[in-house]
Amino acid sequence: MLLVNSIFTSISGEVGAIPQGTPVTFIRLQGCNLRCPYCDTAHSWDHESGYQMSIDEVISYVKTKNVVLTGGEPLIQLQWSPLAVKLMSLNHKVQVETNGTRPVDETLRICYVVDQKMFLSPEQRQPGKNTIQLSGAGSWLKYVVSNQTELTETVCELLDDIRFLRCKLAISVVNDENGAPMIPYGHVINELISNGLDNVVVNFQIHKLVDLP
Ligand code: SF4
Repeated sequence: MLLVNSIFTSISGEVGAIPQGTPVTFIRLQGCNLRCPYCDTAHSWDHESGYQMSIDEVISYVKTKNVVLTGGEPLIQLQWSPLAVKLMSLNHKVQVETNGTRPVDETLRICYVVDQKMFLSPEQRQPGKNTIQLSGAGSWLKYVVSNQTELTETVCELLDDIRFLRCKLAISVVNDENGAPMIPYGHVINELISNGLDNVVVNFQIHKLVDLP
């Protein structure tokens, strides 16, 4: 059984193997091992809430070819992987969004979007970062920054690791409570260009532009 927060259909709003703007069914699993200060899905934190559902029940709510498993933190539920396998056997394209604190399943040829939450220590970020290297093509490491210190650390880390990272790379800026980026995007873009990091994609959450979840 899976513990599910919600299942809804929207568009793909961020980087990943599913192009931005594509209709997607999101399966949001319940429970998270982090408490990010900027989290906009705090209702998914509690490991006791949510709905107990079988894999087949979950799949009965899927309306699109493209499916994103998200949370909370989906990788803390053991059944996430059988769900992904079943969806793929039914010809769905599956993408998994994870907070980077858990190793990904390297045996599944699916796209992972692994957050590198820069307020965490490098050790806390390692599990996802290490194993995404071995996972299927098309996966992304997405650095999530909320202040200049985190941006500087991200640039240093990218400059150190860029020759070894085989996945795609993105940087995402946290928004404040009014929806404004906590670091101006122009500044982030200049930092990338001036450091020669021209293969790093600046990630915008386009679903929020049109008020979709
Ligand atoms: S990992 Fe995601 S769901 Fe969990 S607290 Fe952070 S932003 Fe919220």
